[in-house]
Amino acid sequence: MSNHSGSYMLNEVLLLMEQRGVFTLLELPRTQELVLEMIRISKSYDCNQGEILDEIGERLGICYYCLSPSTDLDNGVCERYRTEWEKPSTGRISDTGDRNNG
Ligand SMILES: [Zn+2]
Repeated sequence: MSNHSGSYMLNEVLLLMEQRGVFTLLELPRTQELVLEMIRISKSYDCNQGEILDEIGERLGICYYCLSPSTDLDNGVCERYRTEWEKPSTGRISDTGDRNNG
């Protein structure tokens, strides 16, 4: 069971920081560093990285699934994992970044 309230709270905080131009000031590499650090901390609170990065992950260039910086995100997922999911035979998606788990 994930801490959904905590995850969505962090998502709202990120949206607020974006609206206030914090990420523009920090510029992309330091923004990604900060957000990944927040996600690292959120693990101690059983938060869900997919929920934290919902919508905003794509704008910040962070894959919600593997947390890699990427400029090629589709529905928040980087090219590497999109490709993996599209293979019909693998059939299994790890629940690491699943937005619907818990
Ligand atoms: Zn990825």
